[in-house]
Amino acid sequence: MLALPAFNPRLDPGAHKLKEIIAGYTMPENVNCGLSNCRTPHQQGYVVQTEDGMVTNIGSVCGKNYFGVDFTRMSRDFEQKVKDKDNRERLEKHQHRVSGYHSRIKTLRAGDRGGDWVYQMQAALTTPNKGVPVLIIRQLRDLQRTGIRDVMMSRPATEEEIKLDEIRLGDEIKQRPYFISAVIGTVVGAEVLGSEDNIKKLLIDDLTLKLEEFKRVKILELSSTQLTRWNKYFSDVELKLTTAGRIIAGMQTLATRENLGFLEALLKEDKEKAEFERFLIRLDSPPASVE
Ligand SMILES: [Zn+2]
Repeated sequence: MLALPAFNPRLDPGAHKLKEIIAGYTMPENVNCGLSNCRTPHQQGYVVQTEDGMVTNIGSVCGKNYFGVDFTRMSRDFEQKVKDKDNRERLEKHQHRVSGYHSRIKTLRAGDRGGDWVYQMQAALTTPNKGVPVLIIRQLRDLQRTGIRDVMMSRPATEEEIKLDEIRLGDEIKQRPYFISAVIGTVVGAEVLGSEDNIKKLLIDDLTLKLEEFKRVKILELSSTQLTRWNKYFSDVELKLTTAGRIIAGMQTLATRENLGFLEALLKEDKEKAEFERFLIRLDSPPASVE
């Protein structure tokens, strides 16, 4: 800095007009302000150039005191430029990671029971008329909302169970059939049906499409706001990929005949039972490739 040809360590602010800020600095030790009437030591400041080509250094407080709003605007523009440059460099680094992200997304989506299969399963298990009877959709939604795994069903009690209830109530039970509510089975992993775990939103709408969009972006043409927004987007891509993996694993646990098959007992109509059986068959065999 001191080696710049036009550097003036004692510039008279009354005799020169400020042109622009050419650098910002933070020094490990104090340096003196370059204004002749100030000379206050500071560590953080700017190198500025005047209209007539002189160069000096001033602290940010001095800049404002001697050059007013011009300086405020210049320093704000300068800080924005520094921030943009930093954001651009960070985005360039992300640009190199995009193809890696793409192949990870492809791997997550593909496969026997990958993301695209999860998408179909989430749709079928939460939306009526997609292959799963409404009664079962409702049951699964209750499990997902409450976090309870046991599925209860009302059924006629055995004589032995009636005796137990009589002891509990201290009274005779004459009514037959006498219904009790009993656990008929346990579903593991219903939490993956929550709306916040929507795989389509995460893996397709967000990760796949957003990263495609970024491939077409010209970093040099992005505005400050866009630069900030894209950097923010990339800050949680890793987390989103991890979440997608967790959702896929969760659905692989949930959507099996072993886990869900017993729910057929909740169905009363043959048509519903047949529909559910067709769904369970889909779970038995590797799914057909996504259309
Ligand atoms: Zn000063």
